[in-house]
Amino acid sequence: MTLKFSIHYGLHFIAPAIIAFLFFRKQWIKVYLIFIATMLVDLDHLLATPLFDPNRCSINFHPLHSYFAIGIYVIGLFFKKTRVISIALLLHMFTDWLDCWL
Ligand SMILES: [Zn+2]
Repeated sequence: MTLKFSIHYGLHFIAPAIIAFLFFRKQWIKVYLIFIATMLVDLDHLLATPLFDPNRCSINFHPLHSYFAIGIYVIGLFFKKTRVISIALLLHMFTDWLDCWL
């Protein structure tokens, strides 16, 4: 297992648990599940060929990882109902974006 791989999946699965526990302690399980559910945005990878390429930068390549989509996630931060989902999606984008540099 490479370092890059560990960082990527650590941020995808462990960071959400820490954020949920620190900031949403009363309902951290629910928040954690929302974080995990936002992993579904990776379904847009199914539209790409090849399906999975560890060296590809997802950001602005896949529709749900485009700057336009990210702009929508940022707007979501301002609304209480969508805030947790937005935080989760932005963390996801940040994680994918790190892959473009490592
Ligand atoms: Zn992604």
